[in-house]
Amino acid sequence: MSKKIALVGIGKIARDQHIPSLAASAAFELAATASRHGTVEGIDAYPDLASLLAERPDIPCISLCTPPHVRYDDARRALEAGRHVMLEKPPGATLSEVHDLAALAEAKGLTLFATWHSRHAPAVSAARDWLANQTIRRLEIRWKEDVRHWHPGQDWIWEPGGLGVFDPGINALSILTAIYPHPLHLTRADLRFPENRDTPVAADLTFADGRGTDLRAAFDWLKEGSPEWDMHIDTDAGYALLSEGGARLSINGVETSAHAGPELEGEYPALYARFADLLAAGASDVDLSPMRHVADAFTLGRRTTGAAFNW
Ligand code: NAP
Repeated sequence: MSKKIALVGIGKIARDQHIPSLAASAAFELAATASRHGTVEGIDAYPDLASLLAERPDIPCISLCTPPHVRYDDARRALEAGRHVMLEKPPGATLSEVHDLAALAEAKGLTLFATWHSRHAPAVSAARDWLANQTIRRLEIRWKEDVRHWHPGQDWIWEPGGLGVFDPGINALSILTAIYPHPLHLTRADLRFPENRDTPVAADLTFADGRGTDLRAAFDWLKEGSPEWDMHIDTDAGYALLSEGGARLSINGVETSAHAGPELEGEYPALYARFADLLAAGASDVDLSPMRHVADAFTLGRRTTGAAFNW
C-alpha cells in the first residue's frame, strides 16, 4: 500500500521533478503540500509545515524541496512530530545542522534521507564499476552553466547558505564521491565572488588522494549556451568521459550506455524508490561527503572579487 507524503516548498524542483515522480510512484501518494505561495491542483495545501503537521497526523512522510538555508527548521519540526524526512540537496546550510538532524532521526527511530539526485544519473554506477579496476592518472571535472538560464531570479543562491556556484557544483561532487575508488581531500580552492554577492560565481578546486593523481574541478556559472557537466578521466586503460551530468559514459571513444533521454529523467523516481526502501528497512541514508568538500573549499578557499552580478 502506498504511503502518504507531503511536499514542502512548491517551487522549481518540486514542479519539475518531485510532483511528476510522486504521480508515477506506487510507493507514495502526494497527500498535501506546505508552501507560502505554491500549490498543486487537487492537493490539500497548507501555508507552512507547522500547520500541516498539526492538522495531518495521517501523513507519515515529509519531503523538503525548499532552499537549503531554510530547510533545517522544517526538518527538525517534522522529525520532532514523528515523521520520516527526505531532504533535497544540499541537505542543509551547514554540516552541523545535518549532523543534528541525523542524531535526532536516530534517537526517534525515524528515517532521514539526504538525497543526491545526480548519483542516480544513468551512467554513474557504470563509471563507478569501471573505475574500481583502473589506475587513475587524472580526473578533471568541468561543471559550467548559465545561472541566468538554470536559476532565473533565484536570489537565495546568492545569500549566505545558498552556496552560489556550489549549488550545481555539489552535484559533481556527489558523483565524484560516489565513483572515486579512493579517499580524497581538498588541498586548494580559488573562489570568485561577484562584488555585490555573498556566494561565489566560480570556483577552481584541487584535491589529493595520496597517490599523486591529478584531481581538479572547475565550476563556472557564467557559461552561456550549452552547459558542460563533464568529467574527463585518464587511466592506464585509456580515457573515459562521463558527460551530461552523469547521463553518458564513453570509454576510449566508445559509448558504454544508452542515453536516457531528457535531462534528469529517472533520477527522482530513483530517489523516491530509495526512500521507500529505507522506510521498509527502518534505516537512514545521510552521506555528507559532497558537502564536506564544499565546506572545505570555503575554509581553505582564496577569495577573489569580480564584476557585480545582476540578473
Ligand atoms: P526555488 O524554486 O527557488 O524554491 C523552492 C520553494 O521554496 C519556493 O518556491 C518557495 O515556495 C519555498 N521557499 C521557502 N522559503 C524560501 C526562501 N527563504 N527563499 C526562497 N524560497 C523559499 O528553488 P528550487 O530550484 O526548487 O530549489 C530547491 C532545492 O532543490 C535547492 O536545494 C536546490 O539545490 C535543489 N534542486 C534544484 C534543482 C533545479 O533545477 N532548480 C535541481 C535539483 C535540486 P513558497 O514561496 O511557496 O514558500
